[in-house]
Amino acid sequence: MIYFPAFFNLQGLKVLIVGGGEVAFRKVALLERTGAALSLVAPQLVPELAALGAAGRLEILAREFIPSDLEGARLVIVATSERAINRWIARLSEERGIPVNVVDDREASRFIVPAIVDRDPVLVAISTGGASPVLARRLRERLEAALPQRLGDFALWLRHLRDASLARSSDSPQRRRFFETLVDGPAGRRFIDGDAEGATRLAQTLLAETGATAPAAGTVTLVGAGPGDPELLTLKALRALQDADVILYDRLVADAILDMARRDATRICVGKAAGGCGTTQQEINALLVRHATLGKRVVRLKGGDPFIFGRGGEELEALAQAGIEFSVVPGITAASGCAAYAGIPLTHRNHAHSVTFVTGHADRRGMEPDWRALAARGSTAVFYMGLARLDYLIGKLREYGAAADLPAALIGQGTQPSQRVIAATLGTLGAAAAGAGLESPTLLIVGEVVALRATLAWFNPGPGTAALAGLAAGAGGHVSEWPPQSPSPPPTAD
Ligand code: SAH
Repeated sequence: MIYFPAFFNLQGLKVLIVGGGEVAFRKVALLERTGAALSLVAPQLVPELAALGAAGRLEILAREFIPSDLEGARLVIVATSERAINRWIARLSEERGIPVNVVDDREASRFIVPAIVDRDPVLVAISTGGASPVLARRLRERLEAALPQRLGDFALWLRHLRDASLARSSDSPQRRRFFETLVDGPAGRRFIDGDAEGATRLAQTLLAETGATAPAAGTVTLVGAGPGDPELLTLKALRALQDADVILYDRLVADAILDMARRDATRICVGKAAGGCGTTQQEINALLVRHATLGKRVVRLKGGDPFIFGRGGEELEALAQAGIEFSVVPGITAASGCAAYAGIPLTHRNHAHSVTFVTGHADRRGMEPDWRALAARGSTAVFYMGLARLDYLIGKLREYGAAADLPAALIGQGTQPSQRVIAATLGTLGAAAAGAGLESPTLLIVGEVVALRATLAWFNPGPGTAALAGLAAGAGGHVSEWPPQSPSPPPTAD
């Protein structure tokens, strides 16, 4: 991050603008609203600037810039038409430690001016770090459309209610909940819709209840974070993350997802494997109970779906025992996510009428899955946590009747840009995987449906998949890798 985002209080401070054209005028028009003491130097002025000067709204020095103009300035904006002059002034400003912006010259600028969506006092600033003004403009348009016109008034209304809520309750989680109910609920809706009076009536009722109730009780929300792509998060998961006081997350959860959480939520890594955070299940249960008992809103964030090989059930049992309120937000499990992004439908009318999710881990009590059912034609088997025992799993399937040419795929880091898929057969997958260096987590899918990937791969399809072959063969054409001719084709690693 090269640019640090900040909002600068310029009230009463001297800001120097160098240049007297249209561009300078636009900057002045914006700066004027900050209450800064504006000083503009330029030998020639567009009429708009001259008019502002005549009205006494800014100091105008109608001459060429001289270095002493910088004295006392806290911010400098340079917008002359001479690049060399702009750069000279920028250098002088830098030497004096005054932040400088040269319009349309990012290299010479110490700070850049973002695109803004203005709902004063709500201000959304957008920067692409100078990478693409067009992109910044598009984002601005989207935000303009998404943010209600009355947002600024709404913010002022909420500020007004802050004092009233402080008088009512000294419990800060309780106050936060009051405001969340206001912002998310019917009162907020009414205000945004233009009924300030109705909104205020609702707020008063809510406020009266706030002081009367006991301090807010803690809760735990078990949230599925999905398989990796942050956009596969559900709306409910996003809401839970943004409301959380404390987040206990698994090692599998991507940083991009954690970034969506409320900024000042406490984040605790409770991954059970590598990564420096080895917490036992008992410790996790105890942490959940402890934070909830303190009245916190706790999110227990797990990869995929919390109820699929996630021990979510066990954690909820501990909460139920401790009498703590909980809820569950399902997530997209690895099987669904990886299958979708690998172009492998888990069921298909012609190829599979059932799908089974199996753990590839050895069971401590020595229980074995129903190998015969998993090996049967017309069904799909998805193995979680199976890479370490790949040879064993393949061996078992073969032992119970699965053919050597039954399609099988390993998917590493599914749904992420780094996703890799090795599509082969039971007979060839072991050798293909051995040299491929797949990065964890990986998922194994076995069944005829895997062959459909040859035509259906769409996400990051590497060389050898039909999407690319189709392009090469011309519009509409595609090359199918399946069914395998004899002898079996070599496995495709992409
Ligand atoms: N609750 C999770 C599964 C936890 S078990 C879920 O519903 O997805 C962890 C196993 O899930 C890993 O060993 C791997 O087999 C699988 N997995 C999770 N995310 C994955 C991903 N992005 N790509 C491939 N496999 C993944």
